[in-house]
Amino acid sequence: MDKKLSEFVLSNDHSQVAEDLHRHFNFTLGRFNTDDLSGYMMTALALTVRDRLMERWRVTKAHEDGAKIRKVYYLSLEYLLGRSLGNAILNLNMQDSVRQALSEFSANLEDIEMEEKDAGLGNGGLGRLAACFMDSCATLGLPVIGYGIRYEYGMFQQKFLEGKQIEQPDHWLIAGNPWEIERNRHTRRVKFYGYSEYYTNDAGKLCARWTNTQDVLAVPYDMPIPGYKNDKVNTLRLWKAAATEEFNLQEFNEGDYADAVAQKNLAEQITMVLYPNDASENGKELRLRQQYFLASASLQDVLDDWVLEQGDGFSQFAEYNCFQLNDTHPTLAVAELMRLLMDERGLGWDEAWSITTKTMAYTNHTLLPEALERWSVRLLKELLPRLLDIIYEINARFLAVVAHRWPGDVSRQQRMSIIEEGTDPQVRMAYLAIVGSYSVNGVAELHSKLLTTGLFRDFYELWPEKFNNKTNGVTPRRWLAHCNRGLGDLVTEAIGPGWKTNLQELEKLRPLAEDSTFRQRWADVKRMNKERLRERVIQKCNVKFELDSIFDVQVKRIHEYKRQLLNILHVIHLYDRITRGDTEGIVPRSVLLGGKAAPGYTIAKLLIKFANNVSTVINSDKTVNPWLKLAFLPNYRVKSMEIICPGTDLSEQISTAGKEASGTGNMKFMMNGALTIGTYDGANIEILDAVGDDHFFLFGLRVEDIAEYGLHNQPNMIIEQDEDLKRVLRLIECGHFSLFEPGIFEPILQTIRNPHDPWMVAADFRSYIDAQERAAQAYSDEDSWFRSSILNTAASGYFSSDRTIADYAREIWKL
Ligand SMILES: *Cc1c(COP(=O)(O)O)cnc(C)c1O
Repeated sequence: MDKKLSEFVLSNDHSQVAEDLHRHFNFTLGRFNTDDLSGYMMTALALTVRDRLMERWRVTKAHEDGAKIRKVYYLSLEYLLGRSLGNAILNLNMQDSVRQALSEFSANLEDIEMEEKDAGLGNGGLGRLAACFMDSCATLGLPVIGYGIRYEYGMFQQKFLEGKQIEQPDHWLIAGNPWEIERNRHTRRVKFYGYSEYYTNDAGKLCARWTNTQDVLAVPYDMPIPGYKNDKVNTLRLWKAAATEEFNLQEFNEGDYADAVAQKNLAEQITMVLYPNDASENGKELRLRQQYFLASASLQDVLDDWVLEQGDGFSQFAEYNCFQLNDTHPTLAVAELMRLLMDERGLGWDEAWSITTKTMAYTNHTLLPEALERWSVRLLKELLPRLLDIIYEINARFLAVVAHRWPGDVSRQQRMSIIEEGTDPQVRMAYLAIVGSYSVNGVAELHSKLLTTGLFRDFYELWPEKFNNKTNGVTPRRWLAHCNRGLGDLVTEAIGPGWKTNLQELEKLRPLAEDSTFRQRWADVKRMNKERLRERVIQKCNVKFELDSIFDVQVKRIHEYKRQLLNILHVIHLYDRITRGDTEGIVPRSVLLGGKAAPGYTIAKLLIKFANNVSTVINSDKTVNPWLKLAFLPNYRVKSMEIICPGTDLSEQISTAGKEASGTGNMKFMMNGALTIGTYDGANIEILDAVGDDHFFLFGLRVEDIAEYGLHNQPNMIIEQDEDLKRVLRLIECGHFSLFEPGIFEPILQTIRNPHDPWMVAADFRSYIDAQERAAQAYSDEDSWFRSSILNTAASGYFSSDRTIADYAREIWKL
């Protein structure tokens, strides 16, 4: 089965590509009029590319199926894939032939790429990380299979009405998805409700089973994940819920046919919609169903294949299989693996537990208390009774270990218990994940350290060997080669193409930072990318940025800890200075904001309204315009980031220290030559270390400052003593940005003045303004700015997800 590229039937030759395009256009899609290409050409091209993926997919699978090799399963409720076409063309090295073939249709690749819908099966950083990881695993040729959910509706689309966020459903599958292959044969059955039953089997052993359940089918849809120019194609398997066929028989016989069919909807609801909460739990029953549905279907898939290929012995299972849990969302997998091994495969507790704790690995993504998942025991008892039994047993045995290690330390037992006692007892999912896993990792150095010294300190004391760090990364294929061809080509011309799979090679750019001709070419590329971004902002926001101004960008989910508010306060401060005629040292600036707020997060939504109102006032003021513009780009998503990060000068990474676990937006900007203004938080710290503090605008309190100083944070005193901040707040208070809606921004003012403001906005204001002034000064010296810009790209090699995945593979997965 070992096939070489030359043995693939379909050639990448442009005439063959053109022929296939015609064939798919005419025969697969049934279009006969080549004058009307809209939409269909994108699909025809996707199918043409997919044919080539298929061959490589088959070969990759043939290598893995049946072969006794260690495999990893990445379990994630989210995959923020974005578009696949451009990436697949890049990875298959088909760019030239596709362009040539398309010219026969007088079509342009960029235009066609824009027609593809984003696969928005994620909220933000966590989901995008999973997508970058899939790309890196395929590129490194690692046997890693992604498991997720095929949401019918992805991340909502954001519109503005009078400056307020409106959510609209994202029916991304409406025109079909050319990338997915339905694999009916691998359908699994997932149980809900019912009760546990105990019985003695033929061998006289006491066993449990889960009976009288209401079952839902899990139908897999596979997406191909191509590696970069290595003829490898990995699999992302997404589950769709479907009703079982027999469920309705009884009602049907009673003549209630329509009612019985309507019941189908209940089952199919499970995979209907992605919950739009980023970094906060939601607690809805349907969300719990999604989590269990993913865990159960995926584990059954792996176990059934194991038995099919290796027979029904499990003694070697842990040696060949590993599950990586992307946050606590799929953590029911711990209990579900126990259930499947005991109830369905006849293993005893000890053997099953030994296998489980040698195969599960957990990645933590946040320290925010509002994001730590807990599920009520009451809900679990009703929906997943057998799982709850198992969780209780895990906890009882675990607490015995704690009691043995710390005899008599009752308060520690309570602290560490997987079950949080109370009137409405809860299961602490992070604790279940830690107890059930052999590896627990954070996503940046600081974050991993804070896990072991704070949130998970007790567990670290018990099992220090479980804890480790894996600093996040992003794929340089999508986030440099594909989204910034201008810069990618310039880099390749300068140092060769090796950087695309070995990003550390970007270090070779360092000496070129001293070369003025190279700097000029670097600046020309940035200018071209700024033009593209400028067009986009005109089109979407009707705001005209000046090309010579500094493009100052903050795009990410709207959250108080990310402090979009601090950014807006700085913009108002500049506005205030300009309107007073104090323009000395001010450098023309175009500020771009973008990001979605969770629909139920009131203050985040108010921040969007605030930004939009401020933007209206600023942009319509002719005296301010030459110096300052502000735009809020609607519907921020992967597609937008691909245009934004290449055209950015200054990247805003201004979270309250200790709150942003890692950040990955910061890495995309750095790779594309932006300078960062940022706090000492998450991966910012590692970015700062890599590039040096001459090329990074650091400001703000650090974690240890906040721990100390936060206790006597006195925002009102800070405001009283800072003339600039006082003026900014007065402008807001007097209704300058809400003339027709007096008082609407009062809740925002309250958070700033609150002595318990956890986000430390007032406390960091002055230091932020100073850093912004340093950034403006730096920008006005073009030579030195672009020198720093080149050095940022040069130092970004560490932030490739290839490095991250190599670390996972070596230290956790042992591949
Ligand atoms: C990279 C990315 C994120 C994560 O950004 P952070 O700044 O790290 O929060 C979120 N959404 C999209 C669309 C992204 O591409």
